[in-house]
Formats: sequence, structure tokens, C-alpha cells
Amino acid sequence: MIKRMSLISASVALGCIVTVAPVLTSIYIADEDAELREQEDLQQFAAKAVMRTELVTYQAFAAIADMEARPGGLCSPVQIAQFAHVIFNYRYVQDAGAYGGGEYLCSPLSGDVRAQHLTMPPPDWRSKDGYQLWYRQKNPVSDERQDIQIGRNGKYVSIDPQSYVDLIDPAQRPIAAINVETNTILALSSGADGDDMLSAWKLAGHVNNEQWHYAVARSASRPLGVVVKSPRSSLVGHWLGLLVMWLSIGVVVGGVLGWIAFRQISRQLSFPATLEWAIVRKKIDVFFQPIVRLTSGECVGVEALVRWNLNGRNISPEIFVAVAEQNGLIQPLTDLVLDKTLDDLSTLLRSRPSFYVSINVSSEDLRTRRFLNVLTARLRETGIRPAQIRIEATERSFMDADATRQTIAAFRDAGHPVYIDDFGTGYSSLSYLQTFTIDVLKIDKSFIDTIGQDAASSIVAPHIIAMAHELGVEIVAEGVERDVQVEYLVERGVQYGQGWLFAKAMRVDELVLWLNERRTVLQPIHL
Ligand code: C2E
Ligand code: MG
Ligand code: MG
Repeated sequence: MIKRMSLISASVALGCIVTVAPVLTSIYIADEDAELREQEDLQQFAAKAVMRTELVTYQAFAAIADMEARPGGLCSPVQIAQFAHVIFNYRYVQDAGAYGGGEYLCSPLSGDVRAQHLTMPPPDWRSKDGYQLWYRQKNPVSDERQDIQIGRNGKYVSIDPQSYVDLIDPAQRPIAAINVETNTILALSSGADGDDMLSAWKLAGHVNNEQWHYAVARSASRPLGVVVKSPRSSLVGHWLGLLVMWLSIGVVVGGVLGWIAFRQISRQLSFPATLEWAIVRKKIDVFFQPIVRLTSGECVGVEALVRWNLNGRNISPEIFVAVAEQNGLIQPLTDLVLDKTLDDLSTLLRSRPSFYVSINVSSEDLRTRRFLNVLTARLRETGIRPAQIRIEATERSFMDADATRQTIAAFRDAGHPVYIDDFGTGYSSLSYLQTFTIDVLKIDKSFIDTIGQDAASSIVAPHIIAMAHELGVEIVAEGVERDVQVEYLVERGVQYGQGWLFAKAMRVDELVLWLNERRTVLQPIHL
């Protein structure tokens, strides 16, 4: 029992583990997955941003090359018109002009300013390929804007710094464009903090921050880089979706594994194991079906019949008795039936010494004297006569002839009448049966059923009755359901009947009520 309980506990624990573990694992994986996707997404965005910085820079270079390629006198109307074309043709170029000697010379926006001597400060940075860069240069025509100016060989273009960072992004993630040689910020999108972005750049994006993810990207061809960041909370919706997806997968996988575990457990808790448990815990009941004298209707005894209700379902004895026989459980079952029968009927049997109960035994119980010894011990000092406990054995259980013959003789010697049950279904020959001494034949219900029906099928019943008479034994007809059967059986000298016409098998309290009622209304049958 302890082994069984620990098996159940272990199986249930295993079931829980295999069900819950995938769910917990999937939550963890979903978390990791969301983190990874967030990072990948941000990295892609950084790559896009760095492409923009390259695009803007190359456009500035192309514009300068274009200005250099077109001839025309310095600040001549023709040249200023060319510069105007450049502004028109290059999307990111805001102004294009000529400079020299540390002064602005002319541009389409400011016109010819040579006479004004507008100072142009030294560049903030010079590239290796000859470009000069001014990071924040106030445009001569505007006090508002500070542009990035890129110049070479006396030609310059002005670029709005926002061009570097104004990507279309619904999430409006902050961006910083960076000169990677000087580690200075070229442009910042709105919402980006220069110090924050620069320190993230220096850490290559590996910032330990619970609120933000950072990513960096570097141009392969120019000394340009970007830093982008996105709030972790902005991915909550996305993360939740992933979590739901992984949870669903976890539940399905857990369910399948749980179901497999359940199948394993069910196999362990197989029918024989459950039956054993029911027998040990005495969860099996015994009902009693009256056997009546056909001529008078008097109830002379009862047959004890096992009943098993498992979780609200009645299991047929035909099924579980066979399972008990095949699994070495029939002896404990027979003992249980005897115990319950004596517990229930002792008083009745003592008060009516002619009343009896017949108990069904199996071939296993007939092979040795074990059950006889149990029975004898149980009856000692109960005041119940041995003849009141009768033994029913099917024809089939007589097959192991030698051992059975001796046990049957021993039962009879001890005073217990022996019945052959289901007579007619076991293919025993009359001569074979004659070698046993038995007391009563119970004619199987299948033969009784044919009585009163068409002549062809009812031909066997009279032969069996005649055979029983020849053997000199009393007869009980099983499964009597109609009055016509009673008349027929009485006519042929069958003494006893058992069947739903009289009563079904019932609990002891119902039996006592039934017996008492019957005593007052009993109508003897007369031929
Ligand atoms: P059985 O010993 O031949 O018992 C008679 C069976 O016929 C019982 O079925 C009973 O309920 C049923 N029966 C009686 N009268 C009628 C009727 O008028 N109409 C119908 N349709 N059926 C009727 P039950 O209780 O289902 O038992 C089936 C078999 O299971 C028994 O046949 C017996 O072979 C076996 N069995 C029952 N209890 C025990 C037991 O304690 N030990 C052993 N070894 N076998 C048992
Ligand atoms: Mg029986
Ligand atoms: Mg029977």
C-alpha cells in the first residue's frame, strides 16, 4: 500500500513538474526573446541612422565636387547661379558658396559679400582627404540656424544638422550622429541628451540602464557613427504578445507531457491494481438475491452476489471477478464476500435455521482446502449450521478434476451443500458430472429464457431438467422473469427458482423488509 501511495505521489509530482516546467521555461525564453528582439530591432535602426549620416555627407561632397567642376569667374553672376543650382539639386544642401582668406565671399543666399569682410573662423576639423568642417556655423543670413559647413578648395556647403538625424520613426527614438575621430557630436535629434549619448558611444552601447536600450553603429567608409536608444517600456505591448505566444506553447507542451504522464499513471493504476485496492479497503459490497420454492413462493435462501461501485459506476461482476481470477485476487475476494455475508446475515441465519446463503467460489478456491478452513474457522461459535452456507461452483471450475473432487467432497463432509452453477453452459458430459457428488444444479438463465417461446429453442430446457432428475439432485432455475416459466418449471418438478420475477439482488436491510412483507402476502402456487 505504501509502495502504491509513493508511486502515486511520485507520478503526480512528475505530472506537475512536466506540466509546469515548460510553462516556466517558456516565460523565461519569452523574456530572453523579447530582450533579443528589442536589441536586434534597435541595432537595425542604428544601421539605418548611420546610412543617413553617410548619405548626407556624400551629398555634401558631391555638391562641392559639382561646384568645383563648373567653371565661371569667382562670385560672377554665372557662378552664383551655378551655386543656386547646386542648392536646388542637392536635397540636404541648404546653402552653397565660395570662401577664401578666412572670409565668406559669396553665395546665392547672401549674395556677393566680399566687400563686407565676413569672417569665417578656422575649421573645427579637417579630414584626411582635405575636407574642412565647421560644426556650428551661423549662416550669414540667419541668426537662428547654426549649420554644419563642409568646405574644400574655397567652396563650401551648409547642411542643417537635423538632416543627419531626422529619420522617419514613429517611436521617435533619440539619435546622435558622431564624428568618431574626435568623439564629438555632429547632430542630436530632439529628446537626445548630448552627454548621455556620448558616454553611451564610448561604452559601445553597453550601458547598464533599466529604462533604456542603447545601440551604436559605425560607418565603414567615413569617420561617422551613431548612437540610438529606445525605452525598454516602449516594447511592453510587443513583449506581452510574445509572452502570450510562449505561454500558449508552454501550456500546450505542458498539457501534452501532462497527458502522457497521466497515461503512465493510469497504466500504473490499472484495473487490477484498483481492484486490489478496493478488496483491501473492503470497498466491495455484497447483495443478496432470494431463492424461492416455486410451489409455495417461500424464500428458502439467498445467493450472495458481489457489487462494486467505482466512482459512481457499477462494474459488472462478470468483468471484475474474471480480472480477480487472472490476477491472483480471487481468494481475498471470496474471503471478503464471506466476511460481509456473515456480518450481514448472521442474525437472520441464526433465527431461521432452515434459511441458507449460497456463496460463489472460483476454481482457485476449489483446488485446495484453504477456503474451507477459513469458512470453518469463521463459523465456529456463531450458531450457524454448516448447511446454511452453501457453495456455488460453475461447471468450468470442475475441470481440474482430481483436486476439485477432493475439495468438493471435503465441503460436503463438513456439511456444506455444493451447487453446480450455470449448469448447461460448461459442456460437461453427464457421465463426467456423475463422477462428482453434488447436491443441487442451477440451470443457467439462457435455458430458462427460452421457456414459453417457440418450440425449437426451448427444446434444451426439458432435457437439462430430466438430466438433473436422473442425477438425483435438486434444481434451482436461474433468471426466472415470467409467470409462465414458473408454471412450466413446477410442471416438470423443478423445486426452486431465482430471478427478477421474485426479486433482484439487494442489500441486507432491503432483504429483511422484502422477507417481512412477503410473509404476509405470500400466495402459495397450486397446480
Ligand atoms: P451467477 O452466480 O450465475 O449469478 C446469477 C446472475 O444472474 C447474477 O448476476 C444475477 O444478478 C443475475 N440474475 C438473477 N436473476 C436474474 C433475472 O431474472 N434476469 C437477469 N437478467 N439476471 C438475473 P450478477 O450478480 O451480475 O453476477 C454475475 C456472475 O458473477 C455470477 O453469476 C457469478 O458467476 C459471478 N459472481 C457474482 N458474485 C460472485 C462472487 O461473490 N464470487 C464469485 N467467484 N463470482 C461471483
Ligand atoms: Mg451463482
Ligand atoms: Mg448462474
